[in-house]
Amino acid sequence: MENLNQNLNQNLIKNKDKGVSVVSEAICEEIMGRTDAFTAVENVFAAMAKNTAYNFPVIREAIGHADALYGFKSGFDRDAMVLGLKSGGYWPGNIEKDLTNHQSTIILFDPDTGKLKSLIAGNYLTAVRTAASSAISIAHLARKDAKVLGMVGAGHQSTFQLRAAVEQRNFEKVVCWNFHPEQIPNLAAVAEELGLPFESVTREELGAQADVIITITSAFEALIDVDWIKPGTHIACMGTDTKGKQEVDAKLLAKATVFTDELAQSITIGEAQHAIASGLIKQTDIIPIGEVINGSKDGRTSNDEITLFDGTGVGLQDLAVASVAAELAEAKGLATYFNL
Ligand code: NAD
Repeated sequence: MENLNQNLNQNLIKNKDKGVSVVSEAICEEIMGRTDAFTAVENVFAAMAKNTAYNFPVIREAIGHADALYGFKSGFDRDAMVLGLKSGGYWPGNIEKDLTNHQSTIILFDPDTGKLKSLIAGNYLTAVRTAASSAISIAHLARKDAKVLGMVGAGHQSTFQLRAAVEQRNFEKVVCWNFHPEQIPNLAAVAEELGLPFESVTREELGAQADVIITITSAFEALIDVDWIKPGTHIACMGTDTKGKQEVDAKLLAKATVFTDELAQSITIGEAQHAIASGLIKQTDIIPIGEVINGSKDGRTSNDEITLFDGTGVGLQDLAVASVAAELAEAKGLATYFNL
C-alpha cells in the first residue's frame, strides 16, 4: 500500500508539468465511487455553512432551440482550494439520439493564478453528486429504523439515487411510482441487483408505505399530497432545480422541517419556491444542511417529525467531485493532457 501511495504521489508531481488534464466520462465512471462523492459533497456543504465556500449566481436560460435549458454553475471552495464552473443543461430530446438528457462539462482553474487546470466530463459526475446529496440528507435526517424506500421517478438519475440511498439505512423494500410506467423496469432491475424487493404502487400507497422518499422527476406540479405523508418520513426532493418546477404539495413544506443544500437556490429555483411565494413558510424556516453536518443546528429532533430536504444542486457539488476525479485520474496515470 505504501508503494502504491508513493507511486501515486510521484505521478501527481510529474503530471504538474504536463499542462491541462482531461478526464473522460469513462475514466470518471471507473474511478469515482459513491463513498468519495459522499465525502466530497458533505465537506463542501459543511464549508458552505461556514462561508468558506460559496456559489456564484447561476445562469440558466431556455435557449429557444431543441427545447434546451442551458447554463453555468460556478463557485469557489476556499477550504479545498477548488475554483471552477460546470457548463451544460438539459436537452429533453437527447434520449432519441442515444444520449442522456443532461449534458455537462466541468472546468477547474488554479485559484492562485486563474490558469486552466482540468477539463472533466460532467454527466456521470452530476448523477453521482446528486445521489450523494440525497444520501447525505438521509444519513443526517432520516429515522435510523427506516425500512421502506419510496422512489418517485424512474428516469436517468433515479438508479444513481437508489444505489446511494440504500447505503444509508437498512432498507428492506423499495416502492416506486413513475409518471412514465414504461421506465419502471429500469429501476426495478437495480433494486433486484441490490437484493431488494420492489413494488410498483400508486402515489398514495407510496406515501403510506415509505419511511424515506426520494422525488427525482421533471414535474411542474405537485405529485405528492401533504396528507399522504406519514409522521416520521424523510423526503428528499431532488428534481426541482428550475423556476416553475414542483414535486410535492407546498403545504408539506409548512408541515415538515425543511433543510436545503443552499438557501438562495431553495427559495428561487428549488422545491421551497412555491411555499415561499404563497407565504406558507419564511426563508428563516429553512435550515442549510451544512449547519447540521457542522453540528451548529439540529437535524431530526423526534421520531414523528417529517423532514424534507430541498436538494437544488449547487455548482460547488460539481466542483468538489470533479476535483477528486481529476486528482485520482492524474495520480493513477489515467488523465490525458494538453497545453493551451
Ligand atoms: P429524465 O428525463 O431521465 O427523467 C425524468 C423523470 O421525470 C422520469 O421519471 C419521468 O417519468 C418524470 N416526469 C417527466 N415528466 C413528468 C411529469 N409531467 N410529471 C411527473 N413526472 C414526470 O431526467 P433525470 O436525468 O432523471 O432528471 C430528473 C430531474 O432531476 C430533472 O428535473 C432534473 O432537472 C433534475 N436534476 C436535479 C439535480 C439536482 O441536483 N437537484 C441534478 C440532476 C437532475
